[in-house]
Amino acid sequence: SLGQNVIVIVPGANLLLNFEDLKRASDVICKAKVVVCQLEITPAVSLEALKMARANGVKTLFNPAPALADLDPQFYTYSDIFCCNETEAEILTGIPVGNLEDAEKVGRMLLERGCKLVIVTLGAEGCMMISGEEPIPKHVPAGKVRAVDTTGAGDSFVGALAFYLAYYPKLSMEEMIRKSNCVASVSVQAPGTQSSYPYRKDLPQDLF
Ligand code: ADP
Repeated sequence: SLGQNVIVIVPGANLLLNFEDLKRASDVICKAKVVVCQLEITPAVSLEALKMARANGVKTLFNPAPALADLDPQFYTYSDIFCCNETEAEILTGIPVGNLEDAEKVGRMLLERGCKLVIVTLGAEGCMMISGEEPIPKHVPAGKVRAVDTTGAGDSFVGALAFYLAYYPKLSMEEMIRKSNCVASVSVQAPGTQSSYPYRKDLPQDLF
C-alpha cells in the first residue's frame, strides 16, 4: 500500500564481490575517513572490510541490512556505529520495536554485545541513539513531512551520516543524526530511492 516499502533484491552481482576485490581496494579503505558496510554483499567480506578499517583507525559504520538472525557477533565489536531499523533490531535481539522504550532496550543490548554506539531508526519518529560514553538514550526526532515512498530511507540516513562523519567530524553525534534525519526525510517525499534529487535545491542550507 502507499508509503510502504516494496523491495526486490537480486543479489547475483553483489555476491561476486570477494576477498580478492577487497584486497585490491585496501589502499582506499585504509585511507578513508569512514567505511560503511552492510549485508548486501557476502557477510564475511563485509566483516573483513570492517576489520581492515578498524586496524587502520578508520571509523566503521555498519547497517545490518538485510537482517540476518545469526549475524556473526564480531559485527558488533567491529562497529563504531551500529545503525539498524526496527525490523533489523527485532531480528537481531528478539525485541519487537514499537516505541522508543523498545528501541532503548535494543540499544542497551547491542552495546552489551560490543557496539560503541547504536542508532535505531524509527521511521517518521526519527531515531534513538545510545553509546557507551553516553549511556542515557537520546531520541532525535525527524521533521514532520508527507511521506509518499519510504524505500531507501534507511540507506539515505546511513549515507548522510557517513557524509557528516567524513566531512564534519567535529559536529556532535546528535547534530549529525539530526541532519541525517533531515536528509532521509527529504528522500521519503518523492517516489523512488534517489528522490532527493529534485529537492536538492530546496534542502535547508544548514545541512552543509
Ligand atoms: P528503513 O528505510 O531502513 O526502514 P526507517 O523507516 O527507520 O528505515 O527510516 C530511516 C530514516 O528515514 C528515519 O530515521 C527518518 O530519519 C527518515 N524517515 C523515514 N520515514 C519517515 C517519515 N515518514 N517522515 C520523516 N522521516 C522519515
